[in-house]
Amino acid sequence: MTTVETARATHEVTNQPPPLEPANLFEIDAALREGIEREGGGWGADRVRELGGLAGSAEARQHAWRAERNEPRLRTHDRYGHRVDDVELDPSWHWLLGTAVAHEVHSLAWRVERPGAHVVNSALKFVWSQVDGGVMCPVSMTFSVVPALRAAAPELAAQWEPRLTLPDYERGARAGMAMTEKQGGSDVRANTTRAEPVGDGTYEITGHKWFCSYPVADVFLVLAQAPGGLSCFLVERGPGLELQQLKDKLGTRSLPTAEAELRAARGRLVGAEGRGVPAIMQMVNHTRLDCLIGSAAGMRRGVTEAIHHARHRTAFGAPLAEQPAMRNVLADLALEAEAATAAALRVARAYDEGDGPFRRLATAVMKYWVTKRGPAHAAEALECLGGNGTVEDSGMPLLFRDSPINSTWEGSGNVAALDVLRAMVKDPDALPAFLDECRLAAGGDARLDAHLDALDGTLADLRAGGDAQFGARRVVEDLAVALQASLLVRHAPAAVGDAFCAARLGGGGRVYGTLPAGVDAAAIVDRALAS
Ligand SMILES: Cc1cc2nc3c(=O)[nH]c(=O)nc-3n(C[C@H](O)[C@H](O)[C@H](O)COP(=O)(O)OP(=O)(O)OC[C@H]3O[C@@H](n4cnc5c(N)ncnc54)[C@H](O)[C@@H]3O)c2cc1C
Repeated sequence: MTTVETARATHEVTNQPPPLEPANLFEIDAALREGIEREGGGWGADRVRELGGLAGSAEARQHAWRAERNEPRLRTHDRYGHRVDDVELDPSWHWLLGTAVAHEVHSLAWRVERPGAHVVNSALKFVWSQVDGGVMCPVSMTFSVVPALRAAAPELAAQWEPRLTLPDYERGARAGMAMTEKQGGSDVRANTTRAEPVGDGTYEITGHKWFCSYPVADVFLVLAQAPGGLSCFLVERGPGLELQQLKDKLGTRSLPTAEAELRAARGRLVGAEGRGVPAIMQMVNHTRLDCLIGSAAGMRRGVTEAIHHARHRTAFGAPLAEQPAMRNVLADLALEAEAATAAALRVARAYDEGDGPFRRLATAVMKYWVTKRGPAHAAEALECLGGNGTVEDSGMPLLFRDSPINSTWEGSGNVAALDVLRAMVKDPDALPAFLDECRLAAGGDARLDAHLDALDGTLADLRAGGDAQFGARRVVEDLAVALQASLLVRHAPAAVGDAFCAARLGGGGRVYGTLPAGVDAAAIVDRALAS
C-alpha cells in the first residue's frame, strides 16, 4: 500500500477575491440593457440575456483560456506531400465560434428583417466579444461580407448568403478578406496582386497577401489589379490559395492570421473592374462597426473585473473600492465604458436606419475614438488587480494584448481620422447630421453647449484652409466626445452625464482616475456593477 503525502499549506489564504463567474453579462450591465431598449432592440433582449448568461459562465471562460493557450497550428502538406493548407484549431476555438454561430451573432441582422435588428445583433457581439476577441474576427467578416455581396454582386449573394448566414456551424460558411500586401495595407491602391480574365467570366489571381485572418474561411473578398484597375473578387478556399505561415502576433492569438500566396486562384468579380475599393468598403464599414463594438466590450469586461476585484480586496484596512483614489479610477473606467457602449449601440441603430449621412461619419469617428481609448483603459483595469492582473489566470493580460488590435484593423488611427475628414467633404450632409444628433442635448449641460460652440469654430477654421490632416485627430476626438456626452446627458443617470462632461469636456486629467472633485463616483461605480 502506498502512502500519499498530502501537501499541507504553510499559511492561511485570505484577502483573495472570489471568482466572478457565473454572472449574466447582460443582467449585470445597466448601460447595455437600457441601450438596447432605447435604440429599438428591446424585442431582442431575451436573446441577448440568453447569450449573456453563457458568456459569463465558467465554461465560456475556460474555452477562451484554452483557445488562447493552444494556439492555431498551420499544416501546409499531408504525409504524402500534397498541399492541404489547413490550420489545426483547438476544440475550444470551435466551441467559441460554433456557439456564436448557433446564436446568430454572425447573421441575425440579415435574417431578421425588423427595426432594431442591428442593435440586437450588435448587443450579441458585445457580450460574446467579452469572452474572446479572436473568434469575433471571422464572426465580423462573415457578417460584413453579406452587404458587400448584396450591393455589388447579387448573384454571388444569392449563392453564398444562405450558407453564410446559417446558424449551423457545420453546414454554414465563413468569410475572410485579403486586402493587405507587404508594400502597403492602408494604401490598397498600391496592391500588386494581378487578376487575369480567363474568358469564362472568372479571373486567375496571382500575388501575395501579407495578412489574411481566418485563412480557413470558405470564401474571401480579395483585392487585385485587373485590366480595368483595382477590383474586388470572391475567391473560394481551395487550389491556388496557399498558406505560407501564421503570424506570431501580439493579440487575438487564438485567431490564425496567415501570410498567403495566391497562385492563379480562381476569382469572380464583385462589382465592376476598377471599382474594387467601393465594393470592399461595404464590408469594411460593417467590420469597423464591429471594431467599435469589440473595443467597447473590452472596456466593459475590464470594468467588471476591476470593480469586482476592488470590492473584495482589502488594503490598509479597507476594501480598495471604498478608498477615494481607487474610487476615482473605477468611476473613470466605468464612465469610459458606458460612453463607449452608448455610442456603439447608437451607431448600430444607424445601420437599422439605412446608409444615411450620420451613419457614415459616426462609424468612422467612433471607430477611431473608442478603439484608441481601449489600450489605456485595459492597462488601467489590469492595474486595479495589482500583480494578479499581470498573471494570465486573471484574464487581464489577454484583454490587454487584444486591446490595440481593433485600432489597427480596418483603418489604423490616422487612416480612420483622415477618413472622417474625407467623409465630411464627400458628403456635405454628414457633418450637419452628426452635429444635429449632438445638439439633441442642447441645454442639458452648459459644458456640452460650450464644447459644441467651440467645435463650430474649429470646423470653420478647417474649412477656411487650415492644415486639416495635421489636426485631424484633434477634430475627430472633439466630435467623438461630443456625441458621447450628448448620449449620456440625454439618457444616462445625472451622475454619469455630469461626470462625463466634467471630465471629458475640458476639466479632467490625462490618465484614468483623474475625475475632478464633485462628481458622484460612488453612484457611477454602483451603476456599473451592482454590489
Ligand atoms: C491582427 C490583425 C489581423 C489582420 N487581418 C487582416 C485580414 O484578414 N485581411 C487584411 O487584408 N488585412 C488584415 N490585417 C492588416 C491590417 O488591415 C493592416 O495592418 C492595416 O490596414 C494597416 O496597414 P499596414 O500594416 O500596411 O500599415 P501602413 O499602411 O504602412 O500604415 C502604417 C501607419 O501609418 C499610418 N498611415 C497610413 N497612411 C497614412 C497617411 N496618409 N497619413 C498619416 N498616417 C498614415 C497608419 O495609420 C499606420 O499607423 C490585419 C492586421 C492585424 C493586426
